Amino acid sequence: MRIVPKSFVCPLGDCKKVVQPSDLLRHVLTAHMGSAGSRTVLEIPLRFREVFRGQSTLMHLPYNRMKLDTDECLAVLNYAGDEQQQPQTMPGFCGLTAPQRNLPRLQQVYSHHLPILVMACKTTWQAVLSNMPARPEDVCYNDDNYVILLWLLSPPTTTPCHATMSVLNSALRCGLRKRREVRDFSTRMAIDQFILGYDPHYCILSQGELRELCGSHSAFIEVVIHGA
Ligand SMILES: [Zn+2]
Repeated sequence: MRIVPKSFVCPLGDCKKVVQPSDLLRHVLTAHMGSAGSRTVLEIPLRFREVFRGQSTLMHLPYNRMKLDTDECLAVLNYAGDEQQQPQTMPGFCGLTAPQRNLPRLQQVYSHHLPILVMACKTTWQAVLSNMPARPEDVCYNDDNYVILLWLLSPPTTTPCHATMSVLNSALRCGLRKRREVRDFSTRMAIDQFILGYDPHYCILSQGELRELCGSHSAFIEVVIHGA
């Protein structure tokens, strides 16, 4: 399968800049993680790390602080393939994805990685089912009315890339664990598949379920990339 580059809208904060897939990492580094003054301020600090196949990344899920109907990027995981066999299994070398271009000198080591964004959104059932943003009149102040969607985004890949997403409490008890496909930026959620439970990309849980799992303590997401 040939990768057809298609530009997409940056999902970080209120950025909305149109970016080519091969410029994703440069854009994140320069527009969102650069020196103060040049970057777009993100409400939730962004994690940035290299990950290998099967390696776990744990991050905070600040569901109480998340703004309604706002896509939040929690981390950029630079997937590097198999730790033991570098560089042949790196996504940009083995043809899984196009290399990232024009990176700042210090980050050029990430040129052949696949940047995967860990995304979260707090919304309402009404908004999910109508595929429209939540309106203030839809919101009743009941935890079960709010839902948290979790998904992973990356530039297009020649074959689907898989990952496991888990939600854990501070004692690392798992409340949800799903294997999902990393979503290409240019694809959209098929709402009928989502409703019927066939959607390969999203995890969903209610704020009530999260509170039951975590009480007044923190919630965490664990992401493990399995690759293609
Ligand atoms: Zn941006």
